[in-house]
Amino acid sequence: MLGLMQNWQLNVSKVIQYAQQNYGSQQIISQNYDDHITQLSYKEVEKRMRCLAWSLRNVLGLERGDVVATMAWNNIRHFEIWYAVMGSDMVCHTVNPRLFKDQIRYIINHAQDKYIFIERSFIPILKTLAHELATLKGIIVLTKDLDPTESDGFTIPFFCYEDLIGEQSIDEWPEIDENNACALCYTSGTTGNPKGVCFSQRALVLHAMAVNGGNFYGLTHNDTVLPVVPMFHANAWSNIFSAPMCGAKLVLPDRHLDPQSLYTLINSYQVTFSAGVPTVWLALLDYLNTHNGQLKTMTRIVIGGSACAASTIEAYEKQYNIKILHAWGMTEMSPIGTVSTIKPELQNKPYQEQLQFKAKQGIPIFTVEMKITDENGINITDDSTHSGHLMVRGPAIVATYFKQDTPVIDDDNYFKTGDIAIIDEAGYMQIRDRTKDLIKSGGEWISSIELENTALFHPGVAEAAAIAADHPKWGERPILLVVAEKECILDDKDILTTLKDHIVKWQLPDAIIVVDELPHTATGKLQKTVLREKYQMYLIDNNLI
Ligand code: AMP
Repeated sequence: MLGLMQNWQLNVSKVIQYAQQNYGSQQIISQNYDDHITQLSYKEVEKRMRCLAWSLRNVLGLERGDVVATMAWNNIRHFEIWYAVMGSDMVCHTVNPRLFKDQIRYIINHAQDKYIFIERSFIPILKTLAHELATLKGIIVLTKDLDPTESDGFTIPFFCYEDLIGEQSIDEWPEIDENNACALCYTSGTTGNPKGVCFSQRALVLHAMAVNGGNFYGLTHNDTVLPVVPMFHANAWSNIFSAPMCGAKLVLPDRHLDPQSLYTLINSYQVTFSAGVPTVWLALLDYLNTHNGQLKTMTRIVIGGSACAASTIEAYEKQYNIKILHAWGMTEMSPIGTVSTIKPELQNKPYQEQLQFKAKQGIPIFTVEMKITDENGINITDDSTHSGHLMVRGPAIVATYFKQDTPVIDDDNYFKTGDIAIIDEAGYMQIRDRTKDLIKSGGEWISSIELENTALFHPGVAEAAAIAADHPKWGERPILLVVAEKECILDDKDILTTLKDHIVKWQLPDAIIVVDELPHTATGKLQKTVLREKYQMYLIDNNLI
């Protein structure tokens, strides 16, 4: 028997429509590239979104299903583009400007982006690829005045963003099948090119509702939300949807993520809630300590993307009275999977005991199911003494990567995260390791395979292994172990010079160590776990931080 409720499609545009209808005067405050502040209400911004939606069709000639890229910071224009594009039944592809140029070329071509909305400061990145982006028909610069010289070197037209926000607007948002794609985000894989995660309207709306539950973000119309995590990183962890969904104010920092700017922004606009990677919050903590600062209005901060140390949680909670929500997730999960928050049965425990749970990755949000399996795929979830492969399923979790035919889920619809985890008796998941051959530094991925292959360009290198070493500021930094070819004497400076020709500066290893041999399994695979055990503390122990 079917239920007899209405068939109300979960569309992203309904989130902004809700905000403008019910919280029309709530403000969105945004820093801009030229350092001035823009302040608009949900009512005003929703009108601008409908103007942009009109221009997408009538000026740019875009149609439903077209993919449109953005390369932009967290600011009000980027916010408008998200809703205008997704609300027009188009797909918003957020491009991470920190990717390698080759990767940017690959993902823009793979996604078949028709237009790109871009900050003026990122145009040079695109310029070097100008003749290799086959599907791009035009570039929209996020500005009110075009600089006529910035289109030099391009053959496609440039548009001024503010010219697209004209007199005309669509009257209402079109109804969209909730299963249609609305956003696209590429994520680094262990090998090969980045893989596209293609989110549906339904997934993003459900995820925003789930993550907003009282035990997790718990946002209300009394909150002022500062999304520090960039919008080109896994949907800015849903802040851009979950804030308007409950009528919260938004404060957008643009590119100003240094501690002093964040401190000023938080205190000037009475921010109550924020989210970002540990590196950002560690830097702010240091700033607060050295400047005798306070964040009086801040009540909670979501820290995730990499493991957050218990000492960071304790410092914010005890010294600054800010609750830390340690979160784990993946781009493939829209992205939040778990949040560490203290369950009722643990609330009477002493703080130090609670802290051990807070430092774990936590309990799943509603809509996320987890299991742990052993090497043979046998379910060992209930065995709280053994770690294994963390598998997840739910309505906002990837089934198949973009333009790949083969699903990436098992027979029971579980997706293998590439993380090794354990679930304790209280139900808290803890990440122990990862099988992905990647290094996460300050929230950004570095491919160890890329480093190894590049090191081999050096004629004296016979074998190389790049691994993650602990770093107090960046979480992890790459270090490279190399074995010399017979009768060669290796100089680490020489190897660094080879790497520099191919690899951007922030991805270069912090140390290059020449070793006699590297450990291998019986089948000849590098035993990175052995290396990690031995060298994990190398940078700290050798004062290389
Ligand atoms: P991304 O898709 O870039 O968001 O990266 C997802 C991966 O980052 C996860 O599979 C984990 O390996 C790692 N990660 C995310 N959050 C955490 C966390 N709180 N603790 C440890 N690792 C994390």
